[in-house]
Formats: sequence, C-alpha cells, structure tokens
Amino acid sequence: MRAVQVPRPKAPFEIVERDIPEPGPGTVRIKVQACGICHSDSYTKEGLFPGMQYPRVPGHEVVGVIDAVAPGVPRWTAGQRVAVGWHGGNCGYCDNCRRGDFFACQSFTAITGITSDGGYAEYMIARSEALALVPDELSSAEAAPLVCAGVTTFNCLRNSGARPGELVAVLGLGGLGHLGVQFAARAGYRTVAIARGQDKEALAHQLGATYYIDTLQKDPSAELLTLGGARVILATITDGDAMAAVVGGLGTNGTFMTIGAVPSLTVSPVQLLRGRQSVKGWYSGTSIDSQDTLAFSVLSGVRSMNEVFPLERAAEAYERMTSGKARFRVVLTM
Ligand SMILES: [Zn+2]
Ligand SMILES: [Zn+2]
Repeated sequence: MRAVQVPRPKAPFEIVERDIPEPGPGTVRIKVQACGICHSDSYTKEGLFPGMQYPRVPGHEVVGVIDAVAPGVPRWTAGQRVAVGWHGGNCGYCDNCRRGDFFACQSFTAITGITSDGGYAEYMIARSEALALVPDELSSAEAAPLVCAGVTTFNCLRNSGARPGELVAVLGLGGLGHLGVQFAARAGYRTVAIARGQDKEALAHQLGATYYIDTLQKDPSAELLTLGGARVILATITDGDAMAAVVGGLGTNGTFMTIGAVPSLTVSPVQLLRGRQSVKGWYSGTSIDSQDTLAFSVLSGVRSMNEVFPLERAAEAYERMTSGKARFRVVLTM
C-alpha cells in the first residue's frame, strides 16, 4: 500500500510502499477513502508529542470502509463505512472509563496518527471502540473533517450549557470556526461570529450567524455586552491576546470555552466572580460523539468547506493547511 509518513521529527513527508497491516486483537483494518489534514498533525510532523515513535503516518480525520476485522471483535463487520478521529481508543475498565470519562482513560493514551499510524495511507488499523458509523448522506471527503474539527466544535457547544435562544459567540472563522458557527446557528442559538476584517461578514451570515463583530472595527467584549452578554463564547483561535479581548463579553453565568490550544490566557477573576462566570477547556470527543456529529450534520445541513487533494500531494496539502489560506479544511483522498 502507499502511505505518507514522517520519517523523523521536522523531516519532509515521504511517500512509501508498505505492507498492508494485519488487524491485531481488538482492532479492524480500514481501507481509507479520505483523511482530513488538521493543525494537530503538526504534533507528528514537528515531533511535539512526548515519546512519539518514528516513522509515523499522521492523520486523525479518517473515513473509509472496514475490510478486515480481528477475531472476537463484536459488532463491526467488513463493508461498513466508518470514521476515526483524534480519540484512538480507551480501555473501558479503568476508574475514568468506568465513570464514562473515556477521553481520560488511565490505562493508555491512544491518539490516531500519533501513538499509532493514521490516515495518510491507503489502509490503517483502528481499535474497534474508536469507530464511528458514517451516514450514507455524506461523502467520505465531506465526513472526514467532521470527526475532528466538527466533533470538537459540536461536542463543545452541546456540552456548554447554552440553551436554544441564548447568545453564543464563536471566536474565529477558520477551519474550526466555520463549523462552530454553523453548529451554533443550527442548534438554535442566537449566534455571533467574531473575526478580523469586514471581508468575513458575508460568510458569517451565510454560515448562519445572526450577528458579526469585526474586531478590527469594534471592541468585541463591548459589542457582546450590548447584545446582552454571551451565555457561551467558543474560542477556536490560537491567539491568547485575541481570546482575552473577548472574555469581557460574557454575560451572567457565562462560560468561556476554549478549544484553541494556547499556552496562556489572561482573565479577570473579579469579572468571573461578579458574573459567576467560568473558563473551561473541551476535549474533542469519543467515537460516539463523532457519530452524533455526523448525524447532526446530516439532519441540519452542516457541511465543512473543503479543499481536496490526492494522497500523493500530501506535502503540498499540508503546506496549504498550515499557511492559513485554506478555505477552510484540507482533505486527502486515496
Ligand atoms: Zn484534529
Ligand atoms: Zn480506561
């Protein structure tokens, strides 16, 4: 099979021929049809994850068809179309798993494309508990970004405590944000999109936002307070200062939820305690969360806007994604 691997940290991608892997205990083999490229693939490319082993095939927005199932694996059969995201599996018996916190499994850390080879390849092996069923209404390229960028925004919003009709702001209109705005609007929130520049306003409304705040023109915190204060702010960007500029727009009992990985964020504890507000992070989700995201996307018409490249152009596609110019996600097809 053809695979695109990172031979060592910071090295260029190489396209290699490998033997098609055999599924070991608890796993299935997937004939990959599409794999999204995510900013987090830089962990693999740049060697940012402690203890990573190389060579490594990146990719954690994987969609394909099961073509082999290890003996004893229940439920899954060859021919089912499935997706695998960041969450690569969990034990099911540690204390956290027994409490339902599968994302925080204490027995092992399984991350697709980081602790095992991912989807920049024609075949990959996945643990069975990491599989999500893909509905027929979505093509594989359409579905791929929904199992990382999609599930992260959707699952964060649906666990944010916001109720239909409440004010929800999405900070950033990139790969994550363009999905976050769609999910927020389709979930029935009064949706505010916040980004830099007037050129994004039309897009924000097209995606379903009722309001648009251009941070080059206006103070986003003051604007949110004018609208009544946000019940939830979903921060999808990776700029701590730009996040801090928006926290002041939280309303009473508001929650600032970040899925953007920044090293630090400055907030005023006085503001938090006076408004009984909170700041919270969110882990993307497990396989059933991905499956719910795919189903909700079919139900509500949410779609990722994708630029599609063939597998052999993975290096170019990765550059396109890291350049920040992609509108809005980049997907490899096999
Ligand atoms: Zn990702
Ligand atoms: Zn566990």
